[in-house]
Amino acid sequence: TLRILHSSKDMALSLVDVAQQFGFIEETLAVIAKPCTVRDVPSAPALPRRAGAVELRNVTFAYGRGRNALDNVSLSIPAGQKVGIVGPSGAGKSTLVHLLQRLYDVDRGAILIDGIPITSVTQDSLRDALAVVPQEISLLHRSVMENIRFARPEAGDEAVFLAARAAACDGFVGRLPQQYATLVGERGAKLSGGQRQRIGIARAFLKDAPIVLFDEATSALDTESEMEIQAALIRVLRGRTLIAVAHRLSTLTSFDRILVIRDGEICEDGTVDELRRAGGVFDRMWRLQAEGLAQDPILDSV
Ligand code: ATP
Repeated sequence: TLRILHSSKDMALSLVDVAQQFGFIEETLAVIAKPCTVRDVPSAPALPRRAGAVELRNVTFAYGRGRNALDNVSLSIPAGQKVGIVGPSGAGKSTLVHLLQRLYDVDRGAILIDGIPITSVTQDSLRDALAVVPQEISLLHRSVMENIRFARPEAGDEAVFLAARAAACDGFVGRLPQQYATLVGERGAKLSGGQRQRIGIARAFLKDAPIVLFDEATSALDTESEMEIQAALIRVLRGRTLIAVAHRLSTLTSFDRILVIRDGEICEDGTVDELRRAGGVFDRMWRLQAEGLAQDPILDSV
């Protein structure tokens, strides 16, 4: 028995090693921590590949027995719209992005993509419809090329190069010792935060999903990378729906629409100009920043 215990412990340890090696530990933990209520219904169909409209109908959700992280939220995002979500820390921004991926099922209400409830289709097909660019991209200790191809393993080299160019990776990759064959280091340690996020955008481009979920880096990036990332996103997104958690006011002007979330509710919804004219929470944040009273990243000040 002791030997079996030992070998299973070894096995568990080596699994941890492997997971760390590949930088997947966080996702692995997220999957393990995921409540087992998220299941495909028997013989669930695949989500048909359509335009990528997103709708939340009276969505309420709490983690465990805590207070509602989202409270009766209704929202309709037409296909192709670029939406920035802002709000103070703990407001529910990440929760919204998690629920869209069905990492958790909602407690009340429904989330629909192109009019179809996400609980009624296979989780695999839902994953195919979404390209997720998290703040911290998980990189494999492999080459830049393989790291981009990870989004679509069957993609040919040309498709990978195209994605890399669209995501403004070409410049910095060209300066690496072996360009696209350069190993990125443990968890991408050889690359800056902005470079890693551009690899994440290249993956999203390669994946070619109708909906892109983007979590803007909170860590300060130099202005040049910030602008490059913005431009890359716009190229990647042509015709696609974007739902982005935005942490900097300076990047918001390229969105079609801003949602301000506070205490699990949408308190403001409109274009940057409309929200500024309304003179509410968003306008206050904007003015604070303009006066240099709030630093980028923003929004904990309101
Ligand atoms: P931030 O800008 O700091 O990332 P956020 O707006 O994304 O904040 P959420 O992460 O969605 O906020 O959190 C909403 C609420 O849910 C908060 O009260 C938070 O403490 C809680 N919460 C978030 N994740 C979990 C979790 N895994 N388990 C329990 N509570 C959680």
